[in-house]
Amino acid sequence: MTVRPLCAALLAAFAVPSFVAAQAQHAHVHGQAFVDVAVDGGQVEIQLRATAQDLVGFERKPANPEEEARVSAARKAVLDHARLWRFSVAARCVAEGPVLEVPGAGDAHDHDHDHEGHDDHVAHSDWTVRYRFRCSAPEALRAIESGMFAVFPSLQSATVQVIDATGAREETLTASANRLVLVR
Ligand SMILES: [Zn+2]
Repeated sequence: MTVRPLCAALLAAFAVPSFVAAQAQHAHVHGQAFVDVAVDGGQVEIQLRATAQDLVGFERKPANPEEEARVSAARKAVLDHARLWRFSVAARCVAEGPVLEVPGAGDAHDHDHDHEGHDDHVAHSDWTVRYRFRCSAPEALRAIESGMFAVFPSLQSATVQVIDATGAREETLTASANRLVLVR
């Protein structure tokens, strides 16, 4: 398995600050999620980043109990890994606890963005969730299907950076093409 050391090196890249910084520079685009998928043997790591606009429906602090309930529901939904990520059954993948990073109100950043139609607020916020799965039969892992478009209907597409046995590549997922085929 000559590809293993390469994979390990690429996975290690996830941990270095420059990679994190590169991720942070992704545009804030309503309707679009950014996903990183790294498959290394039986370990699958997924990072999902999406705007609060798509996940919650607004990007400011909740102003009343109804909005607080929407934030809670969104938190629950993004942590529901079984609905968001489905693996080839034969690969027997199990999830380790997902981690959600929601910026606090003070972290909401205003910056240039590519979308239009909501100049009513200046602060945008993104949610980031990391998932980790271990597959006991990784040779059977052929594809990962995402339920994110069903769970969060305002998401139109996801730009996916995949690192698997063939190296790194970019794919686009949509509601009608929500299956990421892996190369083993
Ligand atoms: Zn926004």
